[in-house]
Amino acid sequence: MNNHSSHPFLRNILVVDDIPDNLRVLSAALTGRGYQVRCAKNGAMALLTAKKEPPHLILLDIKMPDMDGYEVCEKLKADKQTCDIPVIFLSAFDDVLDKVKAFSVGGVDYITKPFQIEEVVVRIDHQLALQAAKAEISQFNAELEQKVQQRTIELERVIHQLNQEIAQHQHTQQELTHQALHDALTGLPNRPLFKEHLQKALQRCQRKEDYLFSVLFIDLDRFKIINDSWGHAVGDRLLVEISRILKECSRKVDTVARLSGDEFTILLEDLQDTSDAVGVAERILERLSFSIDLEERKVFTGASIGIVLGSKQYQNSEDVLRDADIAMYRAKALGKGRHATFDREMYTQTAYLSQIETDLRLAIERREFLLHYQPIVSLTTGTVIGFEALVRWQHPDGRLIYPNDFIEIAEDTGLIVPIGEWVLQEACSQLKIWQDKIPHALSLHVSVNLSGRQIQQFDFIDKLKNILANTKLNGESLRLELTETMLMDRGNRTIQLLSQIKEQHVQLSIDDFGTGYSSLSYLHRFPVNALKIDRSFVNLIDSQGESCEIVKTIITLAHSLGMKAIAEGVETPNQLMHLRNLGCEAAQGYFFAKPLNCQMAESIIANNQQW
Ligand code: C2E
Ligand code: MG
Ligand code: MG
Repeated sequence: MNNHSSHPFLRNILVVDDIPDNLRVLSAALTGRGYQVRCAKNGAMALLTAKKEPPHLILLDIKMPDMDGYEVCEKLKADKQTCDIPVIFLSAFDDVLDKVKAFSVGGVDYITKPFQIEEVVVRIDHQLALQAAKAEISQFNAELEQKVQQRTIELERVIHQLNQEIAQHQHTQQELTHQALHDALTGLPNRPLFKEHLQKALQRCQRKEDYLFSVLFIDLDRFKIINDSWGHAVGDRLLVEISRILKECSRKVDTVARLSGDEFTILLEDLQDTSDAVGVAERILERLSFSIDLEERKVFTGASIGIVLGSKQYQNSEDVLRDADIAMYRAKALGKGRHATFDREMYTQTAYLSQIETDLRLAIERREFLLHYQPIVSLTTGTVIGFEALVRWQHPDGRLIYPNDFIEIAEDTGLIVPIGEWVLQEACSQLKIWQDKIPHALSLHVSVNLSGRQIQQFDFIDKLKNILANTKLNGESLRLELTETMLMDRGNRTIQLLSQIKEQHVQLSIDDFGTGYSSLSYLHRFPVNALKIDRSFVNLIDSQGESCEIVKTIITLAHSLGMKAIAEGVETPNQLMHLRNLGCEAAQGYFFAKPLNCQMAESIIANNQQW
């Protein structure tokens, strides 16, 4: 900042001197240099002027009558309005003491008289520049403060917004967590949350000696029927209503959950006695024995309830649920609408079945199956007309397992499909071998039992054709045994399938006839060649003789439909005699031969055995 460029707005100067000449000279010199100059010829006037319109700087003479410069300066400094105005003293005494005093009373500089006007200007400009800098700084500070304030407000706004977002986020998070742990339809805890509660109960049970808890596994008995006949909307409302009832029947501390579909569970905690769990189950069953009101209609649905009592033995929630499920199945098997409490024996049985299932899967890979052949004898000639192929499972532990002990599991698990395919292939290929070896075997047939699961396969016909083609067995040499239920299950689709089978010249028999539910009026529509009279009816012959109406009726029915009758399970000569008399065409049974292994069956063919 140079001499004449002090702050353009800070040019207002007050000169105070009791000597008019001094005033005039200074005033003229400064005005000539662009300052606005006012004058005061004593201290009192100086104070008045300064207060009225504060100058940017004061040139103040020290030696004045009445009030000297020091006093004026002190007064200026004491007044808030004037305290910031820089004061430069003018003094004739070049005295050290006075200089010190000049500063101590608040002056910023001093000029000794006589002065050179240039020096005065330099000192004035210096002070004005300082003043301007100060003003700038304070302006800057003010602006800074304002900015800080603005920033603070902005920041507060951002923080507020952020907090809102965080809250929103937490809310969404909570909602997601809730959704992840609850069933959307009923709002009940779902499987993961139930398992969590159950796990905690197990831990409590490990710690506290007298802690009792129990799990109820509830499955509705008629849900599927209601859902299928009234529609899903009604089904959904029923589930919601059931969840309300289950909550009503339990206490606040208990956890009612929906596991899936129509499966609910209740964790009963802090029980006084193990019989409390049975009490709750009975309360639920009692409540469900009444109709349930669903706006437009009343529905009835019983439930089957499995009960497991908590114990230290349980390590994890999955095991408890598994046992509750087993008990529920037991309740269903006992006739539904009841409860059953889990016990060890139930577990052993289930474990056995699931072991069989596992073994059965391996058995297919390891080719552990074999076929026995039971001769079917013509009652007119007494010669063998064919064999029924019966599957056996050679278990690796040495046992020979019969179909009654594994066919049902194979059906339930679908494993019957690959097993049945193997049986069909093996039986056809075996008969073909015999036919190639022994000429009169050409007239024999092999009977193969089919399962409902097999004929439901879309590619069953293709598989059948392939097997016949691969083994080169004549279709006429194969007979397939179906049950009545298999025929009734699928109406027209079955008729179509049977016709396709017949196109291969393969023959069809109805196995265990009389034990199923076939509607006799439909029977003529199926292209069947023979009815096999179930063993239980053949057994009756011994007590009732030829008057055995059911056997008589089946044989008559077969003949009137143009079919043959084949008796199963013939064990005595008496049965054989009566069947012959009733016109039954063929028979099989222990009286002739038990199911035989391959070599024994072959020797019967080779020997052309006759009865
Ligand atoms: P099924 O088709 O009625 O077979 C006749 C069953 O009666 C056979 O039992 C046979 O050993 C038995 N049996 C024959 N004669 C007599 C007799 O005089 N007295 C007595 N008490 N029983 C006699 P098995 O071999 O245990 O087969 C039982 C059932 O398993 C069969 O009944 C059949 O439904 C099913 N089955 C057998 N093999 C297969 C197969 O390869 N596939 C399918 N899907 N089921 C099969
Ligand atoms: Mg059979
Ligand atoms: Mg049978």
